[in-house]
Amino acid sequence: MTTCYATRDGTPWEPVYITAINPDTCIGCGRCFKVCSRDVMHLYGLNEDGEVLGKVTLDDDDDFDGDLNRKIMMLDNAGACIGCGACARVCPKNCQTHVKASEITA
Ligand code: SF4
Ligand code: SF4
Repeated sequence: MTTCYATRDGTPWEPVYITAINPDTCIGCGRCFKVCSRDVMHLYGLNEDGEVLGKVTLDDDDDFDGDLNRKIMMLDNAGACIGCGACARVCPKNCQTHVKASEITA
């Protein structure tokens, strides 16, 4: 089934959903989180081995008893994305992958 999308004035427009964030290049700056209206991603703390310690905030002082190595953004609610593309515009590391609605397979 082909779905047609349009802006309010009828101009054709296609959502571009976020499908991945590269954990190796993300610097956890939080910019994508700040512009997203859909609660699609959150910051998580990782230890030295890259294991997820838990959800954190930008200003969080919790260092997980000294285990915190770095913070990265993770897609933990990807299904809520409306494909607005705002997060792609603000990412300074170009570490997000976006896919057109017509090309999403699942
Ligand atoms: S494309 Fe829009 S809705 Fe989807 S994660 Fe990025 S900012 Fe949020
Ligand atoms: S804007 Fe880019 S670098 Fe910053 S937290 Fe989001 S994905 Fe990571």
